[in-house]
Formats: sequence, C-alpha cells, structure tokens
Amino acid sequence: MELNSHNKQEYPPMHTCEHILNQTMVRMFGCPRSKNAHIERKKSKCDYELKAAPTEDQIVELTLKVNEIIDLHLPVTFGLMPREEAGRIVDLSKLPDDASETLRIVRVGEYDACACIGQHVENTSELGHFEIISHDYEEGRWRVRFRLVGSR
Ligand SMILES: [Zn+2]
Repeated sequence: MELNSHNKQEYPPMHTCEHILNQTMVRMFGCPRSKNAHIERKKSKCDYELKAAPTEDQIVELTLKVNEIIDLHLPVTFGLMPREEAGRIVDLSKLPDDASETLRIVRVGEYDACACIGQHVENTSELGHFEIISHDYEEGRWRVRFRLVGSR
C-alpha cells in the first residue's frame, strides 16, 4: 500500500492547527481549504480564495472559533479507507493525481475530516493558543499568518 507524499518535517501542532483553520474557513466563508500553505514551527501562513476581504469582526470570530475548537481538547485520530469511500466525507480536490487508492483520513474530533499523511498531535490540548499575526487581501486571495502560543 502506498500513500501520497507529504512534507513530514511539518511541526505537528502547527499542522494540526492548519486542519482546524481550514475547516473553520470552510464553515465561515464556504471557501475551499487552503491550497497554498506554508507551515513552520514559529509561524505559518495559509492562502484562501475569498470573493472579498474578511471584516475585522469576522477575523475576531475566526480566532475565537479556532481557539474554541482547540480548547475542547478533541482527540486527533486517523484511519485508512478506499479513495471512493473517502470522497463521500472529505474534499479530495487538493489531492495530487497520483495519490494512492487507499487514503489516510485524519479526524479532529467530529469537527474535521481530511485526507492527510502528515504528522499530527494526539489531542488538540497540545496546540496551545492560536493567534493571527497579520493578514492581507489581494485579487481574491486572503493570506493569513498565524502562530501558536504555548504549544507542546
Ligand atoms: Zn494533516
């Protein structure tokens, strides 16, 4: 069995936070998950396709929601399933064409499910606190830079 490749060097708390941020963006704005993300230990960035720049109120709400999910101390679990079955519960549009027929589905509690081979924490309690450092909007792309305070 083969799984699609992934940068395994990503810092697990940041990468797990990316899953939560993606799901929160999908729920709040109906946009796709970030197709362009750069995840580092100290700070990360994600780009989202949005028709308009989020308002300051929405950005506050986004931060609150991500932290609310983190603070639920949700278990992060994974399981293998055939691609066809996975396609019914997760968005596979980000998956490379050469991805394997069997996918690893990572779940953050009941909040998020995503096909991913990266490294994750076992519980969102390891993430600490999510903070947005800066953001900007240009031609349909909202770029958000963020960090985690007190992750372990
Ligand atoms: Zn992942």
